[in-house]
Amino acid sequence: MTRVMRSGRTWLAACAVIIAAMPWIAAIDHDHRGRSFLLETSIALGFMGLAMMWLQFALTARFRWIAPGTGLDTLMQLHRQAGISAFGLIAAHPVLAIAARPGFVDFFDPRASLARALALWLVSLALIAILTSSLWRRRFGIPYEWWRLAHAVLAVLIAAIGLVHVLRVGFYTDAAWKQALWTVCTAAAVGLVLHTRVVRPWLSSRRPYRVVSVTREPGTSWTLELEPVGHPGLRFQAGQFAWLTLGDRPWSLQQHPFSFASSAERPGRIAFTVKELGDWTAGIGKVQPGTRAFLDGPYGAFTVDPAARTIVGIAGGVGITPLMSILRTARDRGDTRQFALLYAAGSLDSMVYREELETLRNQLPLDLMLLPREAPPGWDGPSGLPTAETIDALVDRYGTGGTAYLICGPPPLMDLAERRLLARGVPARAIRAERFDIA
Ligand SMILES: Cc1cc2nc3c(=O)[nH]c(=O)nc-3n(C[C@H](O)[C@H](O)[C@H](O)COP(=O)(O)OP(=O)(O)OC[C@H]3O[C@@H](n4cnc5c(N)ncnc54)[C@H](O)[C@@H]3O)c2cc1C
Repeated sequence: MTRVMRSGRTWLAACAVIIAAMPWIAAIDHDHRGRSFLLETSIALGFMGLAMMWLQFALTARFRWIAPGTGLDTLMQLHRQAGISAFGLIAAHPVLAIAARPGFVDFFDPRASLARALALWLVSLALIAILTSSLWRRRFGIPYEWWRLAHAVLAVLIAAIGLVHVLRVGFYTDAAWKQALWTVCTAAAVGLVLHTRVVRPWLSSRRPYRVVSVTREPGTSWTLELEPVGHPGLRFQAGQFAWLTLGDRPWSLQQHPFSFASSAERPGRIAFTVKELGDWTAGIGKVQPGTRAFLDGPYGAFTVDPAARTIVGIAGGVGITPLMSILRTARDRGDTRQFALLYAAGSLDSMVYREELETLRNQLPLDLMLLPREAPPGWDGPSGLPTAETIDALVDRYGTGGTAYLICGPPPLMDLAERRLLARGVPARAIRAERFDIA
């Protein structure tokens, strides 16, 4: 089992233990007589749902020790699935409680207690809002950064009302030590949001960067070069990414993840290549040299296994950026291992770094395979969309043992490549993928 899988499983096991433990902790020194099994179950589910919520805060707090080596997209998938489960557990709590004892419906009646009813209606609406806006953000047309802000506010609200509910009902949490435990856990979870949104940006404000150049690339991409101001720069591994904020202050809603495109050997000159995709990236070409920038990173597990003898990159469109960093780093380190790159894009002219890639061929043991969707006049290489046969040809040539496969590109290419590599017997641990589209 690889380190990545081990750490992922350890993390999942730890979460399962914490979630399952909460009802048992609540039940310590407590007399259950007089309560039906259904009611006890509803309360247990409520405690478990709340614990699952707390862990959601940890999952998104950008800690490198949480499942180290796990990619951002995997963590976000886990966050999404765990969020749906937490919603199910929390929603089951009132439904089962009312089924067990119909009188509990009064909890939602403002005539019985205005404050309590308001809080419970508010938390119910917040739960529905957080779930639906996460599942159907694009359908509702919510801009990503506003969704991210609302997501954090709603999550904090749910955790806070959850705590007040637990303490006010107090049936299982009457002991002072239990009240302290639930309060500390909720405070820690909410504190993690502050850590990500306030403390991390503050830390990055102490290590600012300056945009040195903004260069137009083929297609609709731009390369930003940054240099550190008053510090030696960021040490990262080729293939990783950072959260980039532009402007005078790091506390901005507009904080976007970008893969390092430059060599890891040159932390004093960091480059990102950004494709115009949405509202924020559309303005990237207008960024002026001299603009202040802040980086939070490095993050990500899209890196080369040092033990691999051959490294095969499969890139589509702007997904070339982390692979470019890997190749540039290999060149700067005089890496003598075999490298291969399949680079698919709409056209030959829209391929960024094409000239440099041709040069890299002479500086590294690099097989370069360019795959334009449409063949330009005079092009005698392959063309078209990558197919299962394209991936098969890579496996036939570079094998399944000692070869690392790194995939980054549009979702259809990534799905195809991952599926085909696994079908051809490439071990899962030898495949790394970076998805730019995480939500
Ligand atoms: C690990 C990683 C590395 C990336 N590396 C590159 C790169 O090297 N070059 C490049 O051009 N693009 C890269 N991207 C994609 C880039 O982050 C998005 O294109 C950019 O954030 C879009 O912002 P927008 O406001 O212009 O577009 P929008 O239209 O607002 O968003 C388009 C999509 O981008 C994603 N997105 C938007 N804002 C954010 C955000 N703040 N945080 C996370 N995701 C967001 C969402 O999935 C959204 O649906 C990377 C993404 C990830 C996750």
